[in-house]
Amino acid sequence: MKRIAYLGLGIMGSGMATNLLKAGCQVTVWNRSPESCKPLVEKGATQAQTPAQAVENAEVIMYCLANDNVVEEVVFGQDGILANVRSGQIAIDMSTVHPDTSRREAAAYAEKHVEFLDAPVFGSKNESATGGLWIVVGGKRDVFEQVKPILEPLSETIHYLGDSGKGASMKLIGNSIVATQIEALGEAMILATKAGLNPKDVLDVLHVVDFRSPIFDGMGKTLLERDFTPSFALKHMLKDANLIARLAQDLNSPTPAAALVRETIKTAVNQGWGEENASALIKALELEAGVTVESHSKL
Ligand code: NAP
Repeated sequence: MKRIAYLGLGIMGSGMATNLLKAGCQVTVWNRSPESCKPLVEKGATQAQTPAQAVENAEVIMYCLANDNVVEEVVFGQDGILANVRSGQIAIDMSTVHPDTSRREAAAYAEKHVEFLDAPVFGSKNESATGGLWIVVGGKRDVFEQVKPILEPLSETIHYLGDSGKGASMKLIGNSIVATQIEALGEAMILATKAGLNPKDVLDVLHVVDFRSPIFDGMGKTLLERDFTPSFALKHMLKDANLIARLAQDLNSPTPAAALVRETIKTAVNQGWGEENASALIKALELEAGVTVESHSKL
């Protein structure tokens, strides 16, 4: 399977589409803002004008879009993917969405005799660019086996988790832990600052202890540099926190820590930091604390 349509060339999608080209696939790309197609076209991709046009000759249709509403628009809308699919194609949604959205997609594609997988990803801008993502997949196992060779150039690992929606559920569960870790890092660094510790020394300790985490290392470093350039935008983390709350409510599952972190994220987004990196949630804690981590000074 070599003919791929890739829709959604944001931070994540552009890296994945590039790696598909590198792997020798024929890739047709579509993005709402057409200028993002240019670097891919320069590398050999074909640019489509609409989602419907993009999927015309594809064997596999892949997309990584901002949120559930955007998936709704691009898949179900006028000139959307479903308007032009044909029997035998396979669609793969790599966006982070609610499992109900994945199941709704699966049912709609099935009516057109198109197979569907939810295959969201862990990892961020760097992992997408270097083919080092961790992919989690829901849908039929035999369909997964068919497309595995296409997912391999994008990823370090691929886990098949069960029927439709299982990949989407796993992604939300993982992101709940990511958000909680960022909150924990922020609270710890602010307390350390108030306690008169050098934040750099604190990160050095956190790097070696038995509760170390790549999140503490990566986001700790950029926090000290006050670099909030997005590789995973805070607005998307709020979207995920809202999806986690919805999933937990539907399943009557207790998530008090996730609920608290959601409030911090909301505050940070309401401060206007939604386009910044997810680590900008720590700025909401700093605001409350009256200190910034790098300088020990009053805000
Ligand atoms: P992004 O850079 O903001 O890209 C979002 C994509 O969605 C762009 O292609 C954007 O098109 C498109 N889009 C937004 N609104 C649209 C609309 N109304 N109609 C059509 N297209 C629209 O986001 P990203 O970081 O790549 O994330 C994409 C998905 O992957 C999200 O679900 C996110 O939660 C998930 N994810 C992100 C990361 C990460 O670290 N960044 C990691 C794992 C999963 P334009 O270019 O026209 O805006």
